[in-house]
Amino acid sequence: MYDIIIIGAGPAGLTAAIYALRENKKVKIIEKETIGGKIASSARVDNYPGFKSISGSEFADNLYEQVINLGGTIDIEEVTKINDGAIKEVITDYGIYKTKSIIIATGTHYNTLHLEREEDFIGNGISFCTVCDGAFYRNKDVCVIGGANSAMINAIYLSSICNKVYLIVRSSKLRGEKSLIDEVCSKENVVILYNSEVVEYLGDSELEGVLVRRNDSDVKVNASGVFMAIGQAPETSCFDNVELSDNKYICANEDCETSMMGVFVAGDVRNKKIHQLTTAISDGTVAAINAINYINKVKIGEKGT
Ligand SMILES: Cc1cc2nc3c(=O)[nH]c(=O)nc-3n(C[C@H](O)[C@H](O)[C@H](O)COP(=O)(O)OP(=O)(O)OC[C@H]3O[C@@H](n4cnc5c(N)ncnc54)[C@H](O)[C@@H]3O)c2cc1C
Repeated sequence: MYDIIIIGAGPAGLTAAIYALRENKKVKIIEKETIGGKIASSARVDNYPGFKSISGSEFADNLYEQVINLGGTIDIEEVTKINDGAIKEVITDYGIYKTKSIIIATGTHYNTLHLEREEDFIGNGISFCTVCDGAFYRNKDVCVIGGANSAMINAIYLSSICNKVYLIVRSSKLRGEKSLIDEVCSKENVVILYNSEVVEYLGDSELEGVLVRRNDSDVKVNASGVFMAIGQAPETSCFDNVELSDNKYICANEDCETSMMGVFVAGDVRNKKIHQLTTAISDGTVAAINAINYINKVKIGEKGT
């Protein structure tokens, strides 16, 4: 039996792991896809205290190494359900694991436009990760869809690789950090299309561009690649037995305790206003310390519990 099972190896989950491993707890970390979580796909992090600037992948690698150096391991499995009880169960596509406590740190996934043929083009012209896929579009024209920080970071990164970057913004202005707005606006090869909505993907087997609706008229934008940065939704479909907010984030108190005793939540998946690295890491710390206190206090598995 494990002391703590951590679901998700993003910044929140790996921070929780660091605290739990340093307390000599028996920890299982489960990750379905990308060790390091979403930040691994970011070109640059400029707002993490202690680092003037660091790439997202280096940040993720550092977290991973820190966990491994403490004796942790990360298992690539997908959690499909958790079951309540004094001894809890975590069910994955590989097996059923027993544990005294759980930390949910599953983050969010990228939103898409839900347009026709989108599924066909994802991974074949449509991407969510400039660091992973930007180089495929060297000297070509690309689009970035979105008007907030992630979209601007993507557009700035791609402007140094691609010929022209169309930043397609639904509203009349960019939303986010002023320094990013200033930087993206200063890039000569970034064309910002405001009040613009992508209504169709163009091309047959290969993506050739997008149709953009602007002030009631449709304009073709030729591009070999489309980078999507239109927000995220929480990864909570397998946690329907804990209390969720109306928009499906996991509700918790300031100790990161969920409605299920012994189950804690950390990071972007928690119902809160600010989704950043610093807040994910703060949650990971709080969730781990409270999970450790819970295990020590309740003494699960001993007589009477
Ligand atoms: C392009 C981009 C740039 C960003 N830049 C910055 C920045 O500069 N500064 C900043 O502060 N923040 C930035 N962010 C936000 C930051 O990445 C997030 O706030 C942070 O990653 C949240 O960490 P997390 O651990 O809560 O979630 P995530 O990073 O989303 O990690 C959750 C992990 O859980 C895994 N998972 C999900 N469901 C399951 C399941 N059922 N079973 C097993 N594993 C599962 C996922 O695969 C994922 O690896 C950026 C985000 C993006 C997308």
